[in-house]
Amino acid sequence: MNILDLTIDELVEQFGTRYNKGRFHAEAVYRESHRFGNLDLSGTKEFKDSSSLASLIENDFSVELWPVVQSTQDAGVTKFVTRSDEKYEYETVVIPMKNYNTLCVSTQVGCKMGCKFCETGKLGLLRQLSAGEIVGQVYYAKHVLGCDIRNIVYMGMGEPLDNFDSVVKSVNILCEDKGMNFNHGNITISTVGDVAGINKLAKLNWRNLKLAISLHSADDVKRTAMMPVNKKYPLKVLKQSLIDYPLKESGIFFIEYILIKGVNDSYVDAVSLIDFLKELRVKVNLMPYNPGTDDLYTAPSADDVNQFYQWLEEAGLVVVKRMPKGQDLMAACGQLGNKELKRNR
Ligand code: SF4
Repeated sequence: MNILDLTIDELVEQFGTRYNKGRFHAEAVYRESHRFGNLDLSGTKEFKDSSSLASLIENDFSVELWPVVQSTQDAGVTKFVTRSDEKYEYETVVIPMKNYNTLCVSTQVGCKMGCKFCETGKLGLLRQLSAGEIVGQVYYAKHVLGCDIRNIVYMGMGEPLDNFDSVVKSVNILCEDKGMNFNHGNITISTVGDVAGINKLAKLNWRNLKLAISLHSADDVKRTAMMPVNKKYPLKVLKQSLIDYPLKESGIFFIEYILIKGVNDSYVDAVSLIDFLKELRVKVNLMPYNPGTDDLYTAPSADDVNQFYQWLEEAGLVVVKRMPKGQDLMAACGQLGNKELKRNR
């Protein structure tokens, strides 16, 4: 069995059924594998008098990772591509910050949401990733590449809330204190505005978890044209789900806004956005559109970005200009999606 796919409680249950052992041994295995990347139990204190149990466990449980078939680096950003046995590929990006790294993980192979500016959306949904496959991306970055990962953003391939159960389970596994010991404050889940998913997440009452909304327009007609999900969940419905969401007192939503020349970069667009964000505590991440393999849209100039930024700032919004890191690797926002895979479909 793949240890990366099990919560600590599931592992305890397995140990009870298989070996009549409990939490003491399960926590030791979880600590060694998840936290330290150590698969050899013989040197651990919990197994020093029970080498036959250690052998049984090593035989029955393992860390299962699909092979990484490609790894590229540009300006400190590393992108690695994992290939499952059905030859499906998914991508993970290690983004260097000042003193640590942020990891951007994928949750699906492809995506059914069909956002027009997104490389992944062009693939359609090919497969959901399991919790173990999501956790495996973190395991690989930490224990194989040796990266100091402090933050995890669910912003890679796929709409995380469209793979709700696996995403929630992966967060539980990553935040297990005997294991990798992340906390909700280190984790951001990004959604395109899947209101059913937001409402389900709200019920978990994870007040420290960060939620990012890919908004990109506060005009229903424009947003529907760019992001078909807006037809199902128009802005009014999305806004109500955010108003109802149990943010902690000092919490904010992260609003992602990809600025596209001639599409959503006018003064009127800025006013719509300012109006939509009234009553919500937010930080706006403003990013210039990053042309992909098709030039459906045009990237804004630096002046366009500065002007839009200024309109928002003058209205009192907290805005950060983000230059996509890893542009050359097709690893910037909305750019994940293997080109060969797309061609081969
Ligand atoms: Fe899917 Fe996100 Fe791309 Fe939209 S932007 S198609 S939700 S991966």
